[in-house]
Amino acid sequence: MSVPDKAPATRRRKTEESLLARKRRARRINKELAEHYPYAVAELDFSNPFELLVATILSAQTTDVRVNMTTPVLFARYPDARALAEADETELQELIKPTGFFRAKSQSLLKMAGQIVDEFDGEVPGKLDDLVKLAGVGRKTANVVLGNAFGIPGITVDTHFLRLSRRFGWTDSTDAVKVEFDVAELFEPKDWTMLSHHVVFHGRRVCHARKPACGACPVAQWCPSYGEGEVDPEKARKLLKYELAPGREELLARMMAGETRRELRAAGFPLGA
Ligand code: SF4
Repeated sequence: MSVPDKAPATRRRKTEESLLARKRRARRINKELAEHYPYAVAELDFSNPFELLVATILSAQTTDVRVNMTTPVLFARYPDARALAEADETELQELIKPTGFFRAKSQSLLKMAGQIVDEFDGEVPGKLDDLVKLAGVGRKTANVVLGNAFGIPGITVDTHFLRLSRRFGWTDSTDAVKVEFDVAELFEPKDWTMLSHHVVFHGRRVCHARKPACGACPVAQWCPSYGEGEVDPEKARKLLKYELAPGREELLARMMAGETRRELRAAGFPLGA
């Protein structure tokens, strides 16, 4: 993968840029990220909307890796909303304990499952307005489920997406809903779900909150925040995480070749940080 070795020629401030220019730059960034992360997918393991909904609720304040270690047993025990709605709360808490905040999460899960049984005949609804009425479900979770389990475009504004959208100059806001609308204006709806994955992948691997690896960043030349982090290429490369981290070249090669996360885990590769 090529990484530009020069600083961006100009620093662009949002105020100096027309909407059309910002759209073009935003789409160029997304195109580059798509080439850099062709394997970007939802990092939570799921096989149906119910599982993704549960996994996303559990992912609050913890890592996707930890959720993925917890859900196989959970889904085997409670395979659908009806089973979960009838769960014993203490048993449920034990199963989800590793994800943290297990009392609050178990209450949300029980209430959410009960609502799905009572109001939606046991099936996870496929509409934003219905999803956000469920316990423990905000716009972020609803958009994750719509985009990844129902194929309905959605922008998922988590902490990474919000930080990078601001660094890219796509928004000035810190309000997740406003950020969602500002960014939605720059892209075609068909691109929203994958855009969310690309940006979150980049935030987790390269453009970290405290030490962005600007010197090893594939979109540096279109980023007005270049220089906020380490610009020395060698030092920046050491800041990269997951499959981009130094020493994980084989993992990266296999991901680029299309091996699934399940296959890679089975082969013993570490998919965590
Ligand atoms: S790592 Fe640096 S150059 Fe890359 S997106 Fe983040 S702030 Fe911009």
